[in-house]
Amino acid sequence: MFRGWSRGAALASWCALTGCSEPDLPSSEVWTPPAIALREDGWRCGELHAHSDHSHDGEDTVAALVGLAASLGTIPVTTLLPEYVDNGLDFLALTDHRTIDGLSDPGWTSDRLLLIGGQESGDPSRIGHGLAWGIDRLIVDDPDLDGVTAADVAATIADVHDLGGAFGVAHPTLGDYPWGWETLGADSIEVWNGGWSDQSPTMTSADIEGLLARGGESSEALLHAVGLQGAGGSMQALAMYEALLSQGVHLAITGGSDRHQLRAPGFPAMYVRAESDGIAGIVAGIRARHTFVSRTPTSTQLLLEVRVGGVEYGLGDRVPVPPGGVEVEVSLRVGRGLGGRALLIAGEDVEPAGDMLERAELDEPVNAYDERFTVSLWAEPGQWVYPMVWDPLFAPGLTEEESARVRALAEATVGSRLGEESLLLWLARDLGGDGALDSARCGPGGWSPGQLLCLPKDTRGVTVLVPDIYDRALNVITSEERITEWAMGAIGSAVMFVEA
Ligand SMILES: [Zn+2]
Ligand SMILES: [Zn+2]
Repeated sequence: MFRGWSRGAALASWCALTGCSEPDLPSSEVWTPPAIALREDGWRCGELHAHSDHSHDGEDTVAALVGLAASLGTIPVTTLLPEYVDNGLDFLALTDHRTIDGLSDPGWTSDRLLLIGGQESGDPSRIGHGLAWGIDRLIVDDPDLDGVTAADVAATIADVHDLGGAFGVAHPTLGDYPWGWETLGADSIEVWNGGWSDQSPTMTSADIEGLLARGGESSEALLHAVGLQGAGGSMQALAMYEALLSQGVHLAITGGSDRHQLRAPGFPAMYVRAESDGIAGIVAGIRARHTFVSRTPTSTQLLLEVRVGGVEYGLGDRVPVPPGGVEVEVSLRVGRGLGGRALLIAGEDVEPAGDMLERAELDEPVNAYDERFTVSLWAEPGQWVYPMVWDPLFAPGLTEEESARVRALAEATVGSRLGEESLLLWLARDLGGDGALDSARCGPGGWSPGQLLCLPKDTRGVTVLVPDIYDRALNVITSEERITEWAMGAIGSAVMFVEA
């Protein structure tokens, strides 16, 4: 299904209402890539990790944050970027550091988004951050004030579950704030925090020493992750996920912007198949591991189907197989991934300091907007498989100038030589002036395709939408400290084969 859309006409009517000046946009019909109709099957897209000014390091009010999250699927964003029609966010979780004050803020209300009460726990010791979702009272992770211990964290997770919520490990391989425990009953792990490459420096053995000095523990899975060097912190988090799966610890994959300022919520975009309406449905979806993460709300979608003996399973499921194994059919469906690379990664046992990732059972080019890849696997209890799609780093149709800018931006992310703010300033300057980062001049009248779009909902500083062609660079996949021709596109929770 191709959608025809006249953005010039829609913007003219929006400007008539708001008095903005009309930018010089092409008024021709444009179309957006056809998508898999995920909402019909209960899938919801949103943000699970965002901070307001109730966090010591968050910039925006709760109202501004909610407005920013709601703005993606509405005019004027949809006017300039029609691919956001029907592709805005459905939910937003507020996860301020060690406080739930934001949940009683008058700005915590929306007629468009499902708002999920949450909290980010952990801090002064920097041994591990955790995300609680679906809670309405404060979670105290060091009630005895003797420093956070593994027992405290396990009790915290049990508390969250008692409140009907879900608990996820946050940014497990972020050098200054790694996850310094076993997973202790957590439901999920945040493999994708911010851009795949721009906020995720490689964790080193010195970071492990720092963690131990602060009283944390270096789990086998974390050591495995740190053994992977040269591919950035997010790939380490994925390696950690593989190590956990190999230990039989079956978690949901989550992603979140960890937004404090500057970049819009929803990058990456979190997909959860809700088990029912409301917060409880999202929480149950996370706990059932029915999740995948995509680079943006308008980019690649993926679904997994595993058929065993006439029964069908999906992303994150536990699939019973006989003790001696059985042949299973695994089918990966990729939406909006044209030009990308579809991968199915399988394994059962990873050694400490192993290779980049476990074996690829499937590695095929994506040649259609909605394509299905099917392989037969011999599956034994303890084995697991998860899907991934890599997008081309260079979007089709770039000018030479744009290609050079994408390459330079991607290279600047290697080893996180530039922080998030510097990257965006650099990008804004390179795109012809700093207007996009000037809140006083922010408005759709100043927008143009291919440039950073400032979102007017922000009232302090500025929040920008990064055009897709450059967002890829912030998510570049690196290997041996060099950029590849690929960007992380989407990644889904593993299916685990268990003894029937
Ligand atoms: Zn954190
Ligand atoms: Zn955070």
